Amino acid sequence: MKILVTGGAGYIGSVVVEQLIATHESVVVFDNLSQGHRAAVHPEAVFVEGDLADRKAVDAALTQHRPDAVMHFASKTLVGESMQNPFLYLGDNVTNGLNLLSSMVEHGVKRIILSSTANLFDQPERMPIDESERIVPGSPYGESKFILERILYWLDRIHGVRFACLRYFNAAGATLTRGEDHEPELHLIPIVLQVAMGKREKVSIFGDDYPTRDGTCLRDYIHVVDLAQAHILALGALDRSSQVYNLGNGEGFTVKEVIDTASEVTGKKIRTELGARRAGDPAVLVAASGKIRKELGWVPQFPHVRTIIESAWRWHQANPDGYLK
Ligand code: UDP
Repeated sequence: MKILVTGGAGYIGSVVVEQLIATHESVVVFDNLSQGHRAAVHPEAVFVEGDLADRKAVDAALTQHRPDAVMHFASKTLVGESMQNPFLYLGDNVTNGLNLLSSMVEHGVKRIILSSTANLFDQPERMPIDESERIVPGSPYGESKFILERILYWLDRIHGVRFACLRYFNAAGATLTRGEDHEPELHLIPIVLQVAMGKREKVSIFGDDYPTRDGTCLRDYIHVVDLAQAHILALGALDRSSQVYNLGNGEGFTVKEVIDTASEVTGKKIRTELGARRAGDPAVLVAASGKIRKELGWVPQFPHVRTIIESAWRWHQANPDGYLK
């Protein structure tokens, strides 16, 4: 099968590409390198530098490469930024997605996996969160993903586009060759590891008065390789029906627990300071992923937060300045 991966130079996209190529799929990466890295693109993937905002570039890629399926990672992904600049999300994330989807329909490409998010669940009534939970996006970022999920629902009904929306909880960890390198870095685990490496003085804990066991936010961290495996399973099952799946390990760790575990893994003391709450952050997010386990046989290989942090630490030590720029 030939798969076009938008955002295949980014953190999760590049790891999924690595795993697709390991399973002998043929991959075309479409990325504008605004956040991704050329060096993160697997050498066996065809690379197209292009922007989803440019409908002609999308059409040209689909005409030239004729993919059987698309995996759509390319988007803005920061909750905090979306609370400050909602148009980047409610505008660009949605219109870029529409460019891709309308071009797919025009070119007869009828299979897609969408990166979605746990930020759909701002006010969960039950924890862990399963797919029947009421959707209340926590930010314009979450809303932009929800809009794309709804557009896919209609494209399935009207055009027979089969989709899987994978709602990631907190992706983390690395493979031996691919890891997390954002500029600026705003995610907890890489920031904590930068403190351990001496590249940053301290990590700010965004609030310690949440209703959790130690007052800091609790999140469900999922290894990026386990996420990648879920994409491959979901792709294989698309012909049966369209689906949405929540993806996490079903166990949460607080910000303080992540910092303590990172301190054990690295053998370094990690300086912290107490900061204000970050807008858009719910107290607790834990996934119930029984549906994907049952329907697709997904079993996470690296469910422990310690193993996830160890893999990230290995990558950060091997790549202290991230990817070659
Ligand atoms: N966090 C923090 N300090 C930081 C970065 C993140 O306390 O410098 C907290 C954040 O408020 C959230 C958790 O760590 O509760 C995970 O945040 P991250 O940005 O890694 O992922 P998100 O939950 O936004 O997807």
